[in-house]
Amino acid sequence: MAPPPSAVLSQDTISAIHHTTILQLVTNSRELITVSAYVDLHLHTSHSDGLDAPGTVVAQAAGLGFAAVAITDHDTVSGLAEAETAARKHGLKFLHGTEISSTFDGREVHVVGLGVRPDDPALLDVLKKLQEDRSVRADEIIRRLNKLGVPIRRSEVQARAGHAAIGRLHIARELRALGITNTVQKAFEKYVGRGRSAFVAKTSLPCGETIGLIHASGGLAFLAHPGIGATTRNRLLRLLELPFDGIEAYHSKHTAGQVAAFAQVAQERGLLISGGSDYHGHAGTSQTELGEITHAAELGKVHVPYAHFERIVEALGKPASGGQAAIE
Ligand SMILES: [Zn+2]
Ligand SMILES: [Zn+2]
Repeated sequence: MAPPPSAVLSQDTISAIHHTTILQLVTNSRELITVSAYVDLHLHTSHSDGLDAPGTVVAQAAGLGFAAVAITDHDTVSGLAEAETAARKHGLKFLHGTEISSTFDGREVHVVGLGVRPDDPALLDVLKKLQEDRSVRADEIIRRLNKLGVPIRRSEVQARAGHAAIGRLHIARELRALGITNTVQKAFEKYVGRGRSAFVAKTSLPCGETIGLIHASGGLAFLAHPGIGATTRNRLLRLLELPFDGIEAYHSKHTAGQVAAFAQVAQERGLLISGGSDYHGHAGTSQTELGEITHAAELGKVHVPYAHFERIVEALGKPASGGQAAIE
């Protein structure tokens, strides 16, 4: 059943909606208004390259009236316990997530796993290896920058990254803090963006292996933000020959037309629909993780209808949704 149309309400009213899928309000004029509830299933925290602690991100989402969230930090599940505690406190539904960098036909593809078991030993093993590779890569980027005469130090970048494995966004923020570039965006354009002077490629799993890993840990695998990275329809359809469970139709970098087109592809293929803001904190600028740089995603700007979350939860509850696909 299609969700009813949303009414325009004040932020306070929207903030009051948490658990209810559809809240019906009777106005003073006795007119019936229906309000849809929304979820955000793609959020980053300081456990990867987001700026805010997991509890803070969840509290912000609660304040904006979201009914459910998933934290999807890059190649890690370390922030999930804190986020889950915060979600319980704020009355939000919560899914364990992670976003795993992968490759397909020699190009980077991101896969979001939702409903994964954060204590799954095989998942933890692979994520640990990816984190170690990130650390080696960070050393190499910093070595290249130093060779270019840029006085950046790993210890200072790590202080900035806190819990997280150092990624390019941390290095770009440090370059800006040092006054080497005026903005984070310029740091990508000049130094750490794909093909730039200090760029080092990341080690990634083949996309099919990532999907198998997510399935084996009880989760559902979603093709992340297919609208980023100039994915042609042909490439999208070839990607979807892999055993994905769904597509992120909703994303802060997708146009309304892309949201509709990706949702239609999902429906045609019997796939689930997911998505979210891809929020990384109020950084002013951010990168989209696939080498492109745009304005940072804002929390609260992407509204995934609650019905999609319900279908995901239902699919997670079925035995067929987890542990079926073999690792390729
Ligand atoms: Zn991504
Ligand atoms: Zn992301």
